[in-house]
Amino acid sequence: MRPLKALINLDNAKHNLNYVRSLAPSSKIMATLKANAYGHGLTLMAGAFNEADAFSVLTIEDAIELREAGFDKKILLLEGAFDEEDLKIAAAYHFNLVVHNDYQLALIRQLPHDKQIDIHLKINTGMNRLGFSINAVNKVYKQLKNDVRINEIVFMSHFANADKTNGTDGQYQEIEKLMNDFNEPFSIANSAALISDNKTHADWVRPGIMLYGATPFDFSQKIPDLKPVMTLRSEVISIQEIKKGQGVGYGEDFIADKDMRIATVACGYADGYPRHAPTGTPVVIDGIKTKTVGRVSMDMLAVDITDLGNVNYGSMVELWGEQLSVDEVANNAKTVGYELLCAISSASRVPIDINYG
Ligand SMILES: *Cc1c(COP(=O)(O)O)cnc(C)c1O
Repeated sequence: MRPLKALINLDNAKHNLNYVRSLAPSSKIMATLKANAYGHGLTLMAGAFNEADAFSVLTIEDAIELREAGFDKKILLLEGAFDEEDLKIAAAYHFNLVVHNDYQLALIRQLPHDKQIDIHLKINTGMNRLGFSINAVNKVYKQLKNDVRINEIVFMSHFANADKTNGTDGQYQEIEKLMNDFNEPFSIANSAALISDNKTHADWVRPGIMLYGATPFDFSQKIPDLKPVMTLRSEVISIQEIKKGQGVGYGEDFIADKDMRIATVACGYADGYPRHAPTGTPVVIDGIKTKTVGRVSMDMLAVDITDLGNVNYGSMVELWGEQLSVDEVANNAKTVGYELLCAISSASRVPIDINYG
């Protein structure tokens, strides 16, 4: 069997959730499980985060999968119902809906009279992506509050700059001011705000990336209390001895400036490894950190093992994980850990397995 696997450390996931709890002890926790739990496997991670107070997902299909797997807690659809069918299913399965625009407000009116639903009312405080403007809130709230089919209303907003110094201040002031006028719970903190700004925790925190052990900040800002959950592991499938002046891979992007030993690893961009990761991107072979050379292929990549002793067919390769942070690899590829982790899930040919150590 092809050796590439995404190994999931469930203990580390639980540790990260406990860390969230310790940072925000008075808030309820909504664990973010969108994008197949950031590439880690939806139901697997729901199990690991079962101590959270609620889950959030993007699609109705994911929400159904969780319910049918037996998770009976609150499940929030982060962009609400996309159409009438979603609304019906959400009511039947007791999903919570974000309501972020007039279309969804009108849709809610079509809910059968014997149905009840909890909603998150999304307010635009500066992200300018989803949500009602602050001026519209009063009117929207009245409609919802007077509707007997609406149970709980949680106000919700999202930060644009929570990863920057003092980046939460402006939007937090907006929502705080607003909440003085409404006696309802509210939620705004993502991972970055959760870690960096206690005042934003409010009634619900919504951690995503930190639960998976990657940083929401610049990669150099390590968070020692977080432990990586996914280890992307493969093996060496070929070794090439090359002479000074010879190239490696497509386009001969890399030319050896000395005689070298090159290991070919079973992992490529069709698996979700970033094609734009340049020569020099870190990778670990048999516990030793070395680097990629040349262009990443669809199914393989090349690694410099010139200075590594005993590398053979089958030597163990860590693309990222417990020995090499996904944030460091992402930084080399000029992206963020979020994108690399999620790419593993959209590249469905990487099997997910539990890491038994
Ligand atoms: C994805 C998402 C989160 C989690 O963000 P992280 O940066 O991963 O912590 C929180 N809230 C909303 C609305 C989201 O879409």
